[in-house]
Amino acid sequence: MFALIGSSLRWRIATWYALLLLVVIGAVMAVLVVQLHALLFDQARAQVDRTGNDIAGIVERSSPLPAIGDSMPIEEQLTMPGNLEHWASPTTYIQIDNGDGYPIAKSANLGAMTFGSLGTSEPLGVVTYGTVQLPFGELLLRDQRLRLPDGGAIVVRVAERLDLFNETLRRTRELLSIVFALAVVAVVAASFAIASSAIRPIGELTNAMRAISSHELDRRLGWSHRRDELGRLADTFDQMLARLEEGFARERQFISDASHELKTPLTVINANAQMLARWADSDPELRAESLRAIGEESAALARIVNGMLTLAKAASGDDIPREPLALDGVAADVVRALQAPAIAKGLILQFRGSDSPIVFADANLVRQLVTNLTENAIKFTEQGSVTLDVRASGEWAILDVADTGPGIESEARSHVFDRFYRTDKSRSRAIEGTGLGLAIVRSIARVHGGSVEALPNLPHGSIFRVTLPAMSGTKNVSAVLDAALTS
Ligand code: ADP
Repeated sequence: MFALIGSSLRWRIATWYALLLLVVIGAVMAVLVVQLHALLFDQARAQVDRTGNDIAGIVERSSPLPAIGDSMPIEEQLTMPGNLEHWASPTTYIQIDNGDGYPIAKSANLGAMTFGSLGTSEPLGVVTYGTVQLPFGELLLRDQRLRLPDGGAIVVRVAERLDLFNETLRRTRELLSIVFALAVVAVVAASFAIASSAIRPIGELTNAMRAISSHELDRRLGWSHRRDELGRLADTFDQMLARLEEGFARERQFISDASHELKTPLTVINANAQMLARWADSDPELRAESLRAIGEESAALARIVNGMLTLAKAASGDDIPREPLALDGVAADVVRALQAPAIAKGLILQFRGSDSPIVFADANLVRQLVTNLTENAIKFTEQGSVTLDVRASGEWAILDVADTGPGIESEARSHVFDRFYRTDKSRSRAIEGTGLGLAIVRSIARVHGGSVEALPNLPHGSIFRVTLPAMSGTKNVSAVLDAALTS
């Protein structure tokens, strides 16, 4: 039972709801009974007080009893048979004791019964209350010792029946118990009905979600007509499905592109290996040519695999090691490292650092980013220059890699960052490349919270602009780094 309650939201909601309601109803009923008890008791007390005060007033003023006149001493008047009947009623009983605590008069309804002696220690004038048990039931008893005009004392004792009001209370309690039992049934049934109707859509949603397998990511729940929390949950799920579908499609595309790119060098290697097996001994020229082709293609394979690994590392995001890094320092290093191939092509490769912004980044990945862009610029530029410029702009560090090469046509500009994308020009002119360099640049920029774009470098050429978040207080950090480097 408890395991069932624990595992089902419906049971839990219904149980807590029912328990809460029943506790509230029970508490209200208990308060009602207590209030009723107090009310009835107060009524009985008011009644004995009224009678007691009445008699006490007469004794204190020594005024005559209503029925007699003032010819007799007051205690004699009180003790005369029948005189107490003026205050007695079917629920009110009166007894007068003398100063020594013996009954000297009582109302007729007491018959042979007495309230029992109060004793003589009670102080004069003080009213005390208690209960007394007589054969027919319980009574509230009010006692008051009074001084008589002749110096003696009497005790005026007035009692009111409690058994009748106890009976009223008992009946009320009985009635309330029946109401409570009915309330239990109604509340439990209502709780389960409410919980069921509230939970039902969750069950429907779960079934709909379960029905969508990984092969059907194009399906949607389509619950946007519901404007409540469940509608929003379903919407979020649909959006997640859309992102998953997109991600899966990208991965499929990547795998098909990657296998296509890997297939070409593998095919060449395979064909050359077969030729070597057949003719290597008889044709030394062919052997040399095949070995060269195998060497080139395996180097291309290694580049592709390295590129894919870097891409995967850059995409993994969270676990890359970050440190404060002077972007201009990295750019200057890359320019130094790539001077040889630039000079070999007759190009001017230069670094122009206007500012020294600091980025919080993985040094190896940022170096890879700058290297990829600079290598591309050198690779695609036949004459002129390649210029790296680093500057700070507000919260951002900006790196421009500008060349005087052929530039990129505007429609190709949005694709150059796709994996394995190469423009027709670079394919047809058989320029070495994997088509992964710019995809890696974009991944690295993104993982550091930045971006990259390709712009035209008029009148001819391209500018690749990388924007990375700069660390605040860049100047101070730069000064600290400079000081650390020079010391
Ligand atoms: P790869 O250089 O290996 O071909 P990239 O991803 O680095 O792959 O570049 C993708 C394509 O973008 C290149 O094939 C080329 O057509 C184009 N491209 C990249 N950099 C330049 C550049 N500086 N000038 C002209 N075209 C470029």
